[in-house]
Amino acid sequence: MPKPQTLFEKIWSQHVVLDKGNEVLLYIDRNLVHEGAFHAFGALAKEGRKVRRPRQSLATADHYVPTLNRERGLDSVVDADAREMIRLFEYNAEQQGIYSLGMNHPQQGIVHVIGPELGFTQPGITMTCGDSHTSTHGALGAYAFGIGASQLKQVLATQCLWQKKPKTLRVTVNGVLGAGVSGKDVILSIIAHIGTAGATGYVIEYAGEVFRSMSMEGRLTVCNMSIEAGARAGMVAPDDITFDYLKDRPYAPKGVQWDAAVAQWQSLPTDPNASFDREVCLDASDLEPTVTWGTSPEEALPVSGVVPDPQKMTDPNRRLHAQSALRYMGLTPGMSLKQLKIDRVFIGTCTNGRLEDLRVAASVLLGQKAKVPGWVSPGSSTIKQQAEAEGLDQVFLQAGLEWRASGCSGCAAMNGDFVPAGLRVASTSNRNFEGRQGKGARTHLMSPAMAAAAALTGYITDVREILGGS
Ligand code: SF4
Repeated sequence: MPKPQTLFEKIWSQHVVLDKGNEVLLYIDRNLVHEGAFHAFGALAKEGRKVRRPRQSLATADHYVPTLNRERGLDSVVDADAREMIRLFEYNAEQQGIYSLGMNHPQQGIVHVIGPELGFTQPGITMTCGDSHTSTHGALGAYAFGIGASQLKQVLATQCLWQKKPKTLRVTVNGVLGAGVSGKDVILSIIAHIGTAGATGYVIEYAGEVFRSMSMEGRLTVCNMSIEAGARAGMVAPDDITFDYLKDRPYAPKGVQWDAAVAQWQSLPTDPNASFDREVCLDASDLEPTVTWGTSPEEALPVSGVVPDPQKMTDPNRRLHAQSALRYMGLTPGMSLKQLKIDRVFIGTCTNGRLEDLRVAASVLLGQKAKVPGWVSPGSSTIKQQAEAEGLDQVFLQAGLEWRASGCSGCAAMNGDFVPAGLRVASTSNRNFEGRQGKGARTHLMSPAMAAAAALTGYITDVREILGGS
């Protein structure tokens, strides 16, 4: 009888081309490209090589595109270096025959949003991208991981990659999430529990009732932030939620090929008696809306909490980091998180810029005015069009927030989308290290519902109080 396998082990073993013992040559089914791929393209050109299988890559302009004045094309990019990056991206994609969603393509968007949205990401595949948040795509049951420039060159040139096999970690969350508790709160709680290095060397599989009933958007948020716990990848076993999400998307198989694909995908979930190298379990009833107070995603607490006292931390590294974080964030131990005044709100990114995220934020803001300025940047141009068709843009605009185009600018402080020094931002992004959203900017990570609640009150706020517990 064959040895029971985990979801990850099944995909891994199906993609091994050559096994050298300590590492294997892994076949890469699909690869995503953005402007940052210029190093890899440059290295290929230097060696006079072409992309081996251009149709297995898909390119999108996201990291350097502005979120304002996009109708002006490249002229909207004020920074000359950023303009050159976008120009080079379009040139390289065209030269190599890679289908490209340029900055004004109707399907353009953040690379980790458009992959699933177009059905380019599918269960059971291996997928790479020169970006750490490639873990996002594991929500569909793919083994997807970020790679560096030299590895990207290897994938582009050979469609294969030498890899060491990671270990497996299953994170199980059973029970039912309370009102106002979302995928973002779940993953922030997991990272706070295991730490930012807690999953280093592992691929996480998310299991249990919470993930089985979670929407695809929620699963994408959870897998997106797996990298913030140090994981190589995050995965959720494909199920009916996955198939319903994928059906009829542009790159999804059609007709009899769809039926055959679903039959194969149904064989992927972890076998009942398969074992993991490590197990972590959490109970959904313990989870609350969660926000970060410090400068690392692990420095997160339930919104009802208070800023911790570093002196009470037993781990010397955590203590040192917390002391520095409190200085940067302008906080003192014992302050209630709900007393923290917010100066800006940002809703968007590959973590929380999907339609469901915008719907939730709009439902909190509906008919009300924000007390602080902020901006909303949909994860893709398709989502922007869908949100506008539903009137969500009008909810944000009437609340006083800016409605922008899709891109990474607000997440990475590009193209003028930064938070001024010393100001506090309620942000749906995934990284809160010093300077991430602007020099001296103080980022508090939270869910779209919590960011919308903060916009309404001007303080970090428990969204459940606004929703009346509904
Ligand atoms: S939105 Fe932020 S985290 Fe996501 S790909 Fe863009 S820069 Fe990276």
